Amino acid sequence: MPKGQFLGIFAKMKWLVAVLLVVLCLPFAARAQDLSALARMDPAQSYVRDVGQGVEIRFSLSQPVPWRVRFRADPPRMVLDVREVDWAGVETVLEASAHVSGLRAGVFRPGWSRLVMDLSGPMALSLAEMSTQNDTKLALRLDPTSAEAFAAAAAQPELPGWGMPNVTDLGKPPARIPGRWIVVLDPGHGGIDPGAERGGQTEAELVLQFAREFKELLLRDGRFQVVMTRDSDHFVPLETRISIARAAEADLFLSLHADALSEGEAVGVTLYSLSDEASDAASAALAERHERDDLLAGVDLTAQDDMVASVLMDMARTETMLRIARLADALETAIASAELTMHRRPHQKAGFSVLKSPDIPSLLIELGFMSSAADLERLNDPIWRANMAEALRQGIVTWAEAEAAIRDLSVVGD
Ligand SMILES: [Zn+2]
Repeated sequence: MPKGQFLGIFAKMKWLVAVLLVVLCLPFAARAQDLSALARMDPAQSYVRDVGQGVEIRFSLSQPVPWRVRFRADPPRMVLDVREVDWAGVETVLEASAHVSGLRAGVFRPGWSRLVMDLSGPMALSLAEMSTQNDTKLALRLDPTSAEAFAAAAAQPELPGWGMPNVTDLGKPPARIPGRWIVVLDPGHGGIDPGAERGGQTEAELVLQFAREFKELLLRDGRFQVVMTRDSDHFVPLETRISIARAAEADLFLSLHADALSEGEAVGVTLYSLSDEASDAASAALAERHERDDLLAGVDLTAQDDMVASVLMDMARTETMLRIARLADALETAIASAELTMHRRPHQKAGFSVLKSPDIPSLLIELGFMSSAADLERLNDPIWRANMAEALRQGIVTWAEAEAAIRDLSVVGD
């Protein structure tokens, strides 16, 4: 959407412009989440429906909120960012549509929620207004446009603070305490991206719970500093997860997941390291699905290349690949010693781009698969989680001590 049109929409609601400007002027970190200000969308009074060649969108809200629409290409998506709207029930507002193939919403970052609509072709806004007569309604209409016009709208640069969060907005990483290992724990998914879902639970909440408990255990050990890529239910793009690890100067990065797999009977803890060739079809599907999460959440990936191949070359040069192999061995040994159920092939490989820091040993751990009833039960068992966290802690200590010894040897040898 051209900037003029974008501003034109807001000119209709002058006070809204003022609110939006005030909000944009605040640094992200300073935006406290005031839950009392949470607006609710009423699904019964809202709809997304085809009208002729176009799509009519109405959201009935409990109060006015700052909002903004933009478009993304590859695949075509409409992204609506709003301040603190509870989108519960939004999946019911999409009627059978030839133009909108999917829709999801959730927290994008603390204080902001996002709705993403997948479009079946290039479309543009022909109406966008928030009316506050009687009740608050956000009304949008999309009509077909040319591929060129859509590409131009999608290529509009983000306003500062709306795109990928800057690492500087995410809080200062802790200063390194000499002699401590810095571990970055990366609970997968979050916010608009719940990950796998089973029986009313989401992968995002299960792995966050595990990460919090694991963090406490590592801190009690006394030899670790721990940084989390998220500590609440909000979305974090894959690139940002890597940036957080780099800013923290992590010694080690562990991405925590509990996905669902329909292919075969995946059961048990599985360790994944980065490779441009997946161990099998299920691993490839898992990696592909994770790469799609950023797209589904409306993140602009056009500037990001598939870097896995070149990163693997960098890793080979910096010996990171050897260090990752030793880390996987140490964790596998510790998990097996604790007699926790592992996958029949406990160490696998796939193209997970969250693992592509060339100099930080990184692993993705499937703590279990939510598609397995036995795994889901274990994930919900506090005793199992404590045993699993303890096994990982022991594995990390074994690995880190061995790495330090190797480093000392090479320093002596120099
Ligand atoms: Zn996952």
